[in-house]
Amino acid sequence: MLDCAIIGGGPAGMTAGLYATRGGLKNVVLFEKGMPGGQITQSSEIENYPGFFEHGKTGMDFMDTWQEQVFHFGLEHRLDEVKQVRKEGDHFVIEIAGGEPVEAKTVVVGTGSTPKRAGFKGEEEFFGKGVSTCATCDGFFYKNKEVAVLGGGDTALEEAHYLSNICSKVYVVHRRDTFRAAPSTVDRVMRTENIELITDTTVEEVVGDAMGVTGIKLKNKKSGEETLLEVPGVFVFVGHDVNNHVLKDGEGNFICDVNEQGQVIVDLSMRTSLEGLFAAGDLRIEAPKQVVCAAGDGAVAALQVISYIQEQA
Ligand code: FAD
Ligand code: NAP
Repeated sequence: MLDCAIIGGGPAGMTAGLYATRGGLKNVVLFEKGMPGGQITQSSEIENYPGFFEHGKTGMDFMDTWQEQVFHFGLEHRLDEVKQVRKEGDHFVIEIAGGEPVEAKTVVVGTGSTPKRAGFKGEEEFFGKGVSTCATCDGFFYKNKEVAVLGGGDTALEEAHYLSNICSKVYVVHRRDTFRAAPSTVDRVMRTENIELITDTTVEEVVGDAMGVTGIKLKNKKSGEETLLEVPGVFVFVGHDVNNHVLKDGEGNFICDVNEQGQVIVDLSMRTSLEGLFAAGDLRIEAPKQVVCAAGDGAVAALQVISYIQEQA
């Protein structure tokens, strides 16, 4: 039986693994369905993680620096998708996609979040054919072309700035006239010549043909005026949904308390309402959704796991 199963290899899970193994736990496995790193690997630049301030370095470059350290003390990575976590008596059973169930004394869930869809007409049909949620992955396809970015948060504005270095013009379409993004990011975007802000405007539909997207239909919320913006690419950055499905039982009920948005309710020690189960990072309540905070959560959770196992012995 594992001392600890960690689900999710983003900053929260990787840090939990580092602290758990360096803190003396022997059988600790990180279940990560892809390569460890998490959603920050999609970021074009990271400049707010203390100690890492290298201009032009991507989220992928940044997470590369974590690999050697977090696996140095015995943490094992299993390239597996976890389907479900349940408690049987005093231990947990981890159901793996296409594999044998694994038993563990404790579980740290750090499955993070995934980009939301905006919900405009044609979004699903053209997803991957001009509609994208990753500028670092797909931006290059639009070199010297015009693209649109949807959203007014940090992700939308930071990625719009990144795209402005590749594309001839970037239109940022936002449904209000004030932005959720950090003021410094808003300033930077406003000072960028080839970014145009289209505010108080919604995307009604994305249009295209067999080759992909050709444009988006916009509607001004104040005037009601409808226009067609001819662009071959649309980047959607309208927030994230938490990945909590591993915490649902066969009837669809959560095994621990969650709030209305499905975020896992934890205390300051990252303990959930179910003994032995901890949650860390973006999927917990009131998560600041920052790498440094997710990493901090992972460390806190692992230290609690160590105490919990010592108490149970
Ligand atoms: P995640 O990073 O989401 O990692 C969760 C991991 O769990 C993923 O690797 C996923 O594959 C895995 N997983 C999910 N479900 C399962 C399953 N069932 N089985 C196995 N594995 C599973 N923060 C900053 O501090 N600074 C920034 O500059 C910044 N820029 C950002 C730019 C972008 C484009 C985005 C999207 C986010 C940015 N963030 C930034 C936010 C930051 O990336 C997140 O707050 C942080 O990654 C959350 O870490 P996490 O470990 O909680 O979750
Ligand atoms: P977010 O802060 O939730 O912003 C989402 C944006 O999309 C908002 O402007 C919202 O508009 C808009 N929106 C939501 N649904 C929409 C819809 N259906 N149609 C059109 N627009 C819609 O999400 P995020 O930018 O991805 O950021 C998530 C978290 O990660 C935040 O806490 C953020 O601070 C953090 N993050 C931090 C950094 C950084 O520190 N450098 C970088 C990236 C992300 P309204 O404003 O009108 O609601």
